[in-house]
Amino acid sequence: MPELPEVETTRRGIAAAIEGGRFEGAVVRDARLRWPVPPELDALVAGRPLLRIWRRAKYLLFDLGHGHLILHLGMSGSLRVVDADTPPGKHDHVDLLLAGGERPRALRYRDPRRFGALLWQPGELQGHPLLARLGPEPLEEGFTAAYLKAALGRKRVAIKLALMDNHIVVGVGNIYANEALFRAGIKPTRPAEKLSRADCERLVQTVKETLLEAIAAGGSTLRDFVDSEGKPGYFQQRYFVYGREAEPCLRCGEEIRQTRLGQRATFWCPHCQPR
Ligand code: ZN
Repeated sequence: MPELPEVETTRRGIAAAIEGGRFEGAVVRDARLRWPVPPELDALVAGRPLLRIWRRAKYLLFDLGHGHLILHLGMSGSLRVVDADTPPGKHDHVDLLLAGGERPRALRYRDPRRFGALLWQPGELQGHPLLARLGPEPLEEGFTAAYLKAALGRKRVAIKLALMDNHIVVGVGNIYANEALFRAGIKPTRPAEKLSRADCERLVQTVKETLLEAIAAGGSTLRDFVDSEGKPGYFQQRYFVYGREAEPCLRCGEEIRQTRLGQRATFWCPHCQPR
């Protein structure tokens, strides 16, 4: 599943290629995503400028002036900029056609599992049900130790589940929750209310660190979003604990353990994360 760094890298890649351009229309080959693609998509975008591409949590927001396209990559979605006459593959469900340039291009949405979404919101975005109750962005100033300590309050839920709760902070998925907790020396199962202010300081810092490193690693894949058949996947990164069950800890050599929390694979080092 694309996590925040992949979505942010996608945003940067396509923004560099098409921001400031103009849409000519849209081709919808299969509208059956998580929710139906609006049938009037072609008319909604035709002749409209693409003023800016924003990101909120894992939603990409295309500002067309009179409204926004809201796009979520779901489990397996990806976006690329291609020549408009590039034959579509089986899972290339939507093309947003781009005007101008030396040759006609398209922003192509591929999604084999079709859990993604492409929606239209006229006018302002504020109050859209998908965006209304989201917590702060992890990489913005509002995500501080003081904020986190207050947000965790008296929650008894495991800290890893709290960290992955979009109402507390957005965009910290399973891989980065595991990695940030290892770096902060906090056991994933510790009740959220038991974190001290110092724990929160370390955790806020390691969340930012892991996400920024992943985005930096993704920078080298930016070309994959333009004129390429390459599939943007997970960035080549070395993880401390994620996916390393029974392997030695890279810091202390102890065996990495695995359990499941909220159905998600959870990894930790019993020596580096004792409690
Ligand atoms: Zn260790």
